[in-house]
Amino acid sequence: MSKPAPIAAIRGFRDVLPDETRRWEALVGAARAMFGTYGFGEIELPVLERSELFARAVGETTDIVEKEMFAFRDRDDTSVALRPEATAGVVRAYLQNGLVHDDRQARLFYVGPMFRRERPQRGRYRQFHQIGAEMLGREDPLADAELLLLIRRYLDRVGAGGARLELNSLGDATCRPVYRERLREFGTAHLAGLCPDCHRRLERNPLRILDCKVPGCRAIVERAPVARDSLCAPCAEHFAAVRALLDQERVAYHVNPRLVRGLDYYVRTAFEIVSDGEGLGAQNAVGGGGRYDGLVAMLGGPDVPGLGFALGLDRLAMVAAPPAAEGPGPLAVILPLETRAVAPAFRLATRLRDEGLPVGVEPAGRSLKALLGVASKRRARLAVILGADELAAGRATVRNLVSSADRRQALDLDASGPELARWMRDEAAA
Ligand code: AMP
Repeated sequence: MSKPAPIAAIRGFRDVLPDETRRWEALVGAARAMFGTYGFGEIELPVLERSELFARAVGETTDIVEKEMFAFRDRDDTSVALRPEATAGVVRAYLQNGLVHDDRQARLFYVGPMFRRERPQRGRYRQFHQIGAEMLGREDPLADAELLLLIRRYLDRVGAGGARLELNSLGDATCRPVYRERLREFGTAHLAGLCPDCHRRLERNPLRILDCKVPGCRAIVERAPVARDSLCAPCAEHFAAVRALLDQERVAYHVNPRLVRGLDYYVRTAFEIVSDGEGLGAQNAVGGGGRYDGLVAMLGGPDVPGLGFALGLDRLAMVAAPPAAEGPGPLAVILPLETRAVAPAFRLATRLRDEGLPVGVEPAGRSLKALLGVASKRRARLAVILGADELAAGRATVRNLVSSADRRQALDLDASGPELARWMRDEAAA
């Protein structure tokens, strides 16, 4: 029989190895701790939803829904999609689970994988991970400011303080149509320079020309009218109030009048977190979000306002304070010199692990020298040797691999678990 060929992961889907997951754990742990202080509770959502949820929430004419969704027909013919983002799912859950009742307020955060069929490159994957938070039932500018402050504090806490906050206001149902018309007029006047996709966008959803990635379109769009000049009075006031609250708390931000988001549902406040730090290259957006006052109603609920953000964990891990080069090795590695010593070695390992000590245990059948080499390679502090003499004495020899000190038959194998653990800890610290 021929040797089977190895099977590689699907393009754009990657493995996250321990050095990186350790970093992620710290990022997620910090989020859990800090988001809690702002009143957010964690929600765990399905990764598979009805395609219609995203078509309606994210928008039929967005790149995400038009080109990037992993959508397919399930065996029962339901049209389903791997979630490209989580806000739609949060709102669905908020409605479906009755969180919308009472005073309609909810603060929810999530952590998990999202799926978009984009062109993979550094910092851009087809499965990526987000930490995000949604605040439902709040219309007032204080909510926007709280959310932005939370992001700022979180980034500072995890060592990504260099990331910048870019802020804009996109207007609402009153003033956005005015802006949309102005954009359409502008686009029509520059039709010749725009790509075929943008021609279509101009008819269906002119705002989308603002995030076209084609260089020719980008050059034209640079000169397009900006939303801020079309804001109605209530939107302008809301934006000014958000900014005043941020100024009060000394949250630095940059107003970027060209900032739009790739999703249709945003109104009023929209923002992006951008990092110029090395490592990210072209994919310099670490996160983004904004207000989506019409979304709950669009998904069949009452007229409840909301806002939220998502941070890309993959990218955050690239810009946040660098992880320790290597994870810590085990405190000890237990080395049975002969087959008879394997069972006692296993027993010792279990008792130490039950006490919370990270220890390794090796198979028998190699020389002491070879086993000590293995212990060093694993970066263990202590080597615990179990040979014929040790078995006879009921005591293991312990070598401190850091100081090279040998303690002949010093570890009493019959001692209690806590005693063993204490002895090992002291020995490692010696
Ligand atoms: P968005 O939902 O598009 O606003 O994305 C929010 C954040 O998620 C971005 O700023 C990125 O950090 C991250 N993100 C979005 N798409 C990808 C991707 N394909 N690969 C890696 N991270 C992504």
